[in-house]
Amino acid sequence: MNKAFMREPDADVRVCCPRCGSPGTEVTAGPLNTHIRPESRSKLQDIAWYCSLVTCPVAYFNQFEAVVEIAELKSPIYPYDIDAPLCACFGMGYDDVEDDVDDGEPLRIRELLRRSQTPDAQCQTLAADGQCCMKEIQKLYFKLRSEKQNR
Ligand SMILES: [Zn+2]
Repeated sequence: MNKAFMREPDADVRVCCPRCGSPGTEVTAGPLNTHIRPESRSKLQDIAWYCSLVTCPVAYFNQFEAVVEIAELKSPIYPYDIDAPLCACFGMGYDDVEDDVDDGEPLRIRELLRRSQTPDAQCQTLAADGQCCMKEIQKLYFKLRSEKQNR
């Protein structure tokens, strides 16, 4: 069966990036308006998909193969630029996660988790993929921590 026609319990029909074939994350107008430069914004309507494959130059695409590349975004985004904030709402970055690992206690991440549950968190509008960043931040924390332990 074609993967495009399989439904996951909580996901919409998978739409895949026309360049790399990775399944996209559906986004609405919020992230598109926040991140795409005005001159490229009209390539996509108010529903598009985000391609998260770092080696792929595509940021957003739709099911008609229109694409907006990373280079067409207003500012760099993580993980394409490691200095860009991981958290679009509160600006937590790679360095902050590193500091938490060095401190041996995820105080900054805990504080972010608290704030991510308040109305100030606007991931659906501000995050490039429209998703809350906590999962990525926790993943990075555990990755950096195990790297540190193995040094
Ligand atoms: Zn792609």
